[in-house]
Amino acid sequence: MSEKSKGELLKEKLFLKSENCFNVLGQDESAKAFLFCDNYKTFLDSAKTEREAVAFVINEAINNGFAQFDSSKIYKTGDKVYYNNRNKALILAVIGVDKLENGFSIVASHIDAPRLDLKPRPVYEEGELAFLKTHYYGGIKKYQWTAVPLAIHGVIIKKDGNTVTVNIGEKENEPVFCVTDLLPHLAKDQMSKTMENGILGEALNVLIGSIPFKDDKSSENVKLNILNLLFEKYGIIEQDFISAELEVVPAFKAKDVGFDKSMIGGYGQDDRVCVFPAYSAIFDVNKPNKTTVVVLTDKEEIGSSGNTGLMASYLKNFLKSLCNSQKQDFIKTLNNSKCLSADVSAGFDPNYPDVNEKNNTAYLNHGTVLTKYTGVKGKASTSDATAELIAYFRKIFDDNAVIWQTGELGKVDQGGGGTVAQYIAHLDIDVVDLGVPVLSMHSPFEITCKSDIYMTYKAILAFFNN
Ligand code: MN
Ligand code: MN
Repeated sequence: MSEKSKGELLKEKLFLKSENCFNVLGQDESAKAFLFCDNYKTFLDSAKTEREAVAFVINEAINNGFAQFDSSKIYKTGDKVYYNNRNKALILAVIGVDKLENGFSIVASHIDAPRLDLKPRPVYEEGELAFLKTHYYGGIKKYQWTAVPLAIHGVIIKKDGNTVTVNIGEKENEPVFCVTDLLPHLAKDQMSKTMENGILGEALNVLIGSIPFKDDKSSENVKLNILNLLFEKYGIIEQDFISAELEVVPAFKAKDVGFDKSMIGGYGQDDRVCVFPAYSAIFDVNKPNKTTVVVLTDKEEIGSSGNTGLMASYLKNFLKSLCNSQKQDFIKTLNNSKCLSADVSAGFDPNYPDVNEKNNTAYLNHGTVLTKYTGVKGKASTSDATAELIAYFRKIFDDNAVIWQTGELGKVDQGGGGTVAQYIAHLDIDVVDLGVPVLSMHSPFEITCKSDIYMTYKAILAFFNN
């Protein structure tokens, strides 16, 4: 072996390296990453909506010794609690050794994902076919939602308060639904439109039936037949759709991607790919120094609005109740708290290299992504973490063999976006974004890498154990 030159040695000392996890990880740890992701795929398939995610994680939490939060109780080190916000957002906490005034260690991720929501009056018939009207939720490319199998998940709350849970299109023998698209032969006008206007929002109508109810006198017989089937199956009438939350999501399951099975393709990975490492990490902490908190929030994809989004007060109220019960100064506690806003980052896609700046983009398999700022046009609407906070996490990650990289959401002036970090920052908590790089983000089939998912888990666990 030839000796390293002076320049090579100096380079090793001074240059920032970003390496492919698989060049660094031993076989044992690669195997661990793959195993970790098998459980992740189960979570993806079991929790396609925010309500399903809350129910799934509560069940897992109970199995891991968590109990429902009671604000009148005084908790002690090692106690594990969960707080369910309207079945659509969830907080998990493990009480630490330190007094609360030294700060919480918080991880925040979101459990909502882009999809098609049913309108309050969705069922109609046209051309002897029955459809459901939808209003899309979050940032989607509408053309990606046509001609793919779709399932319907959600709840219908009857006038008497009873809940009908709907989950249809997932099992092998169940029907699926779809949004139709025009045949290329007749799409001359459509194909000359911009991709933004090729499929319009009001054309995202879900096909649900074609057999008419047999009656010469009645009209809208296909709609009638469908409503009759729905009455038989769920005991619902048309008015019940008004008090329902029904979400149309891709019907397929999460799958390994690639001959090497190194990647996962599936729906809703933004942000379940951070949710899974976050709750897995809090299940794995035991008597941490700081009280650790995982918040799985709703409504991130539409601006964190509503009382289940992080612009609302539920996280603050929860932290405040803990402080009150332990007679700790809430303002001091918040000021000393730290948070990882665990949300996905845009991975470098060689098919679309021009949207990134190559030195500051995140690469698949290069580990979890620490993103100092997001934002749009000159960092608008970002919290822009302090250099001090970044240094704090750098040390934790390096000390715990976490493979991590830095990222930016696209090159300057390309577009951009935001996360819940800004709303956490408004509470006077130090916060920075961390997460998994994703390809085809917000599409029905998002792509992530198993090594990055595992490293995100390791990063969060190292933070909780610090
Ligand atoms: Mn996200
Ligand atoms: Mn998103």
